[in-house]
Amino acid sequence: MVFEYAPSIESTTILKLANRYQHFIGGKMVAPAGGKYFDSLNPATGEVVAQFAQGSKKDVDKAVQAAQNAYDKIWKKMPAAERGKYLFRIARIIQERSRELAVAETIDNGKPIRETRDVDVPLVASHFFYHAGWADKLQYAGLGDKYSSYGVVGQIIPWNFPLLMLSWKIAPALATGNTVVLKPAETTPLTAMLFAEICQQAELPAGVVNIITGDGETGKELVNHPGIAKIAFTGSTEVGRIIAQSIGNTDKALSLELGGKGANIIFEDAPIDEAVEGIINGIFFNQGHVCCAGSRLLVQENVAGEVIEKLKKRMSLIRLGNPLDKNTDLGAINNAPQLAKIKELTQAGIDEGAEFWQAEVNLPTTGLWCPPTLFTGVWQSHRIAREEIFGPVLSTITFRTPEEAIEKANNTPYGLSAGVWSDKGSRTLWAASKLKAGVIWSNTFNKFDPTSPFGGYKESGWGREGGRHGLLPYLKSSVKG
Ligand code: NAP
Ligand code: MG
Repeated sequence: MVFEYAPSIESTTILKLANRYQHFIGGKMVAPAGGKYFDSLNPATGEVVAQFAQGSKKDVDKAVQAAQNAYDKIWKKMPAAERGKYLFRIARIIQERSRELAVAETIDNGKPIRETRDVDVPLVASHFFYHAGWADKLQYAGLGDKYSSYGVVGQIIPWNFPLLMLSWKIAPALATGNTVVLKPAETTPLTAMLFAEICQQAELPAGVVNIITGDGETGKELVNHPGIAKIAFTGSTEVGRIIAQSIGNTDKALSLELGGKGANIIFEDAPIDEAVEGIINGIFFNQGHVCCAGSRLLVQENVAGEVIEKLKKRMSLIRLGNPLDKNTDLGAINNAPQLAKIKELTQAGIDEGAEFWQAEVNLPTTGLWCPPTLFTGVWQSHRIAREEIFGPVLSTITFRTPEEAIEKANNTPYGLSAGVWSDKGSRTLWAASKLKAGVIWSNTFNKFDPTSPFGGYKESGWGREGGRHGLLPYLKSSVKG
C-alpha cells in the first residue's frame, strides 16, 4: 500500500508584494531615470511576481555618488564597533522577517520552501551575525594594521541564491568599512528589494547600501563606472572573463566567484547508503543550480553497480513540484534560457553516447521543470563531463585506483569544490591534499558556514568569501610602495 503525501502549502499571506519596486539609492526608493520597468516571473507558474526598475547609466551614477558621499561623510569615520551594531541589527531583522523572506525567495526563484526556510535565510542571518562580530576586530584578522577599506564597491550577483549571495557580498564589505552598490540578477530581484527595506528599518545611514535592479547592461554600467574602487562578482566564468578584461587597464580591484564542475568521489570503502544521500544532496539541492554542485560522480568500479542501483531508487523518491509545498524536494528551473541550456547539454550527452536515465515524474503543466537525470558510462571527453550544466543532471565516471580518481577529478578547467567518501581518514586526507579545489567535503556535501572560506582555483575564480580570508578582498594595503 502506498501512502501519498497530503499537500502542505506554505501560506503566502505574510508577503505583501508591491506591484512595482524602485531602485534603492541614498536610503530612498527612487524611480528609474529612464522610466522603464521589467517583470520578474515566478518560474513555477509563469506568473509575474512584480515589476522592477530598469537601471541605466544615470541610475548607476546616482547610486555611486550616494555611496561615495556616505563613505566620505559617515561610514569611513564611524567607529568600527558602531558599524558592527548596524550589521547585528540587520541580522536580527532578517531573523524576524525570515518567513516572509523565505516565501519571497521561493516565489521569485522557484526553489523549494524547505530550502529557503532551512538553508538560505538562516545562512543569510548567520553571515551578517558573523561579519558584525568582525567589524571591530579587524586588527586580529592577521592582516596587521596597514590595511584600509576601498571606498565604493560595485557588487554583481547571480540568480541561484539571490539573498544568500547578497549577504556574502554586503556583509564583509560593510564590516570592513566600504559602502556598496549592488546589482541583483534580472530574474530574482525581489529579496534584494526586501533587503533594501530592511536597511531602512535598521536605520542604516543613507547611501551605505544602494541597490540597482536591471539586466547585464546595468551590470556593465556598474563595472565600468569610474567612481567604483573595487568590483566583486559572482556568476558565470564567461561574464567573469568579460569583466576582468574590461577593467584590466584600470586600477579597480576585482574578486570573482565563478562556475564549477565539482567531483564527488566515492571510494570502495565508503559508507554506501550515506554516500547515496550525499550524491543526492550534491546534485539535486537547489535544482543543481549550485556553483559547487557535485555534478561529476566519480565512483570506484567495484562498487559502481551497487551505488547506481541505490541512486536510481533514491532518485525515484525525489518529489518534484510546487516549491511552496513543504514536501517538495526539487523545485522549478529558474529561467527559460537556463532550461534550454540544460536540455541542450542533456541532448549532447545522449548524442555523444553516454547512457541516459531519468526518474519517472509527472511534471506540472505550467512553469519550467527538469526531472532528476542521471548519465552513466560518461567519458572524460564528453561535454557533460566538462561543461557546467547548472541543473539536476549528474554525470557518472568510474575509476579503478585512487590515483586515477584524483587525475580524473582534477581534469577540469574548474576547481571550486570536491567531495570524498571513504571510511579511512588517511585516504580522505591524502585525496584532499591532491585535489585542486577550493572546498573539499569529507563524507558530506554542500555544507556552508560563514566562518569557512569559499572560493575556487583556475577558472572558478579569484579570492575567497567567508571566514578570515573573505575579509581580505575588501581591504587594501595602505603601505605606500
Ligand atoms: P551570469 O550570467 O554570469 O550573471 C551573473 C550576474 O552578472 C547577473 O546579475 C547578470 O545580470 C550580470 N551580468 C551579465 N552580463 C554582465 C556584464 N557583461 N557585465 C556585468 N554584469 C553582467 O551568471 P548566472 O547565469 O546569473 O549565474 C550562474 C553562474 O554563477 C554559474 O556559472 C555559477 O557557477 C555561478 N556561481 C558561482 C558562485 C561562486 O561562489 N563561485 C556562486 C553562485 C553562482 P542578468 O541577471 O541581468 O543577466
Ligand atoms: Mg523571478
